[in-house]
Amino acid sequence: MPNTDQSLGSLSSLLGTFNMAAVSMRYSHFAPRVYNLCRSLNFESGKIMPSRAFCSDESQGYPIILLAKHFGTFPFNHGLVGGIVATDRHGPHAQHGKDLFIIQASHVGYDPNSKQFGMYRRLQTSQQNATSNCGKICNALEWYLNEYKFAQNNIFLKYEKGKHLVIIDNHLLHLEREQGLFLKLDHFVDVDNRGMPPLPESSTSTAKVFIASKKLVDSLNDFDWNADSLQAIQQDLKPDLFYFKRNISQHADEGRDHLEKNLLPVMPYIVSSESPALTAAQANTQIEFDRTFRSIAQDPAYKSKKVLFISGLNIDISPQSEQIFPLTKFIPWAAYIQDENGQQQTWEQKELYEKLMQQSLENTDQINLESAIKVMQNTKEILLPF
Ligand SMILES: [Zn+2]
Repeated sequence: MPNTDQSLGSLSSLLGTFNMAAVSMRYSHFAPRVYNLCRSLNFESGKIMPSRAFCSDESQGYPIILLAKHFGTFPFNHGLVGGIVATDRHGPHAQHGKDLFIIQASHVGYDPNSKQFGMYRRLQTSQQNATSNCGKICNALEWYLNEYKFAQNNIFLKYEKGKHLVIIDNHLLHLEREQGLFLKLDHFVDVDNRGMPPLPESSTSTAKVFIASKKLVDSLNDFDWNADSLQAIQQDLKPDLFYFKRNISQHADEGRDHLEKNLLPVMPYIVSSESPALTAAQANTQIEFDRTFRSIAQDPAYKSKKVLFISGLNIDISPQSEQIFPLTKFIPWAAYIQDENGQQQTWEQKELYEKLMQQSLENTDQINLESAIKVMQNTKEILLPF
């Protein structure tokens, strides 16, 4: 069972390096730019096989259509639900083109009316309902958000008779639980050298009352300790005060729990962020980039091939009633490039963005999808031999 305390520091610092608004671009600009970026790397026109690792959500259709239009072929499917890369599909992808482009993106909905992330208007539902997006990510987050809410509502602080007191619900003090939100007790109270809390000052039927550590008091200097009624810790339950344990499969890579496995180490930052669905999609993109570029670099199928791999975030801006597609924006995160001679490099977010912005929005190789479909309709039918 994963206890994810250790890697939190390095991953959380990575979360902070992700720029959003300044580098976002609409897909109608990203698609020609990324095609021209491939061409600038000497990818051969007509010999490029694009591939996408997107979630199964229908909102990902518009980006796929634009990639098909600009690359002149329907992209290979490298994606599992939640924006996970199916690395066992590297082989077939490598065989389907001379030069290879792969894009991985987690996605998150955005409702421009409420300015909320994580929601998306489904025009095909009977009432054009707004539902969660990415559904897979939001579903996975629900359990953690409930655990977090319980802890926020069941840790109380007060100042009484010269003492700063912290009152913690018994459930949160039960360290033998197999899964749940666990407090870093040494941040709340002065623990002994085995990490055990001191004897409580007093107990109620459901909680224990401790003297708060100086560390906690100092970190909560804006908290109203002197309020007349008992005050719950609420938004002051910061990510460095807790971690999660969760019963998920650790072995089956790219299986059902892969997304949760990716997110578990940074879950305290996700649940306490302003937009958990957005932070989760961002973290998943960052983790999938790191995992996938290594798998591409090592896969014999890609050896001696030109490969461009880009990770980023698809922001699905909910369509209005008269729109068929979402106004999806792409936020690039990082890229990996290799050539046929084995030269490899990675581009960080700023460098990738600058390289994309250097590219023209004109793409003379793009196809007209309507006329391509017309050609297929008008071509003489081939009868199958049965
Ligand atoms: Zn999704």
